[in-house]
Amino acid sequence: MIYLDHAATTPVNPEALKAAWPWLTTEYGNASSHHELGYRASSALEDARMRVARKLNCRTSEVTFTSGGTESDNLGVIGLALANPRGKHIVTAPTEHNAVLESVDYLRRMHGFEITYLPVDSQGNVTPADLHEALRSDTTLVTLMAANNEVGTVHDLATFVPIVHNCGALFHTDAVQIAGWRTMDVAALGVDALSISGHKFGAPKGSGVLFSRGRLALEPVIHGGGQEFGRRSGTENVAWAIALATALESVSIDGADRVALLRDDFIADVLAINPKIALTGNPQDRLPNIASFVVEGVSGESMLLALEERGIICSSGSACAAGSDKPSHVLTAMGFAPDLALSALRFSLGHETAAEDLSRASDALRDFLGE
Ligand code: PLP
Repeated sequence: MIYLDHAATTPVNPEALKAAWPWLTTEYGNASSHHELGYRASSALEDARMRVARKLNCRTSEVTFTSGGTESDNLGVIGLALANPRGKHIVTAPTEHNAVLESVDYLRRMHGFEITYLPVDSQGNVTPADLHEALRSDTTLVTLMAANNEVGTVHDLATFVPIVHNCGALFHTDAVQIAGWRTMDVAALGVDALSISGHKFGAPKGSGVLFSRGRLALEPVIHGGGQEFGRRSGTENVAWAIALATALESVSIDGADRVALLRDDFIADVLAINPKIALTGNPQDRLPNIASFVVEGVSGESMLLALEERGIICSSGSACAAGSDKPSHVLTAMGFAPDLALSALRFSLGHETAAEDLSRASDALRDFLGE
């Protein structure tokens, strides 16, 4: 089997599992307990927090451990919007992950927020001019992803963040897909909040982090014992925090360049199969590991099955959209007709992917399409 669905999830990094193991077995104390086992768990948790803070270039008090990208997005978006008294207007894009789209919609339904969805072009880009125009004196929050999970388009946060700050609003970014490929230096990016998810870069599913800038109030979305600086209640998952810190430290930014070269050769090979295949997303500013296409007249589901029969595992879009008969909300927002959007195919590479894996994948697609 050749696994080309790393944007859905990645295998657990053995080092991360090894580091987590004692905290699942012999060191099973509750980090909030007042005895020796508890103190050891608490100090291991704080060590993991320090390692994450070092990688993100922030303070330890700005790192909140969560159960993953979905929770980090909910806390970042809902938590910042409800705690910030500036107004009830949010700006986002229709190509965001559902964790963001459903969070802003919750704020609209339950708290009377108004949402502006920025226009996106056929490659999934939003423009600084449209962002500027959407901002108002009551804009509380702008939430725009660092990179799209279905088509790989990377947003130019360095341009967007100052525009938003000049108007006095806050900026949250969903960095779930990019965190395994680029350094996420929150000081350099200037964002106010940033979500990451461990299982996209070799930590177990159910591990995540929200960075939120120190001075900012954040209304919790999970209520209880007040763990994680009162921002996220629930007994701390020490083992997963340690695994996430270890996996984040293992991310090879240099390896991203190798993968980007493989991706480019693979894209060229696939496009050469037949003229009905088109690349989706921004051809230049894209994640190193995502090669996404539409194939006119062929359903994504049929390609997925045919490729799986030939030993290739990929996706017809995001893992959440796969298996549904609805066209992807990302592609339709980018202007693709529903039929064409249903012909999507996403190959997402990992750090271990080899050139030979990709030539087998393009051969399998060529074989199925009968070219
Ligand atoms: N945001 C993006 C861009 C994603 O791709 C995903 C997962 O696919 C999530 C959020 C949700 O992360 P998790 O699976 O950790 O809840």
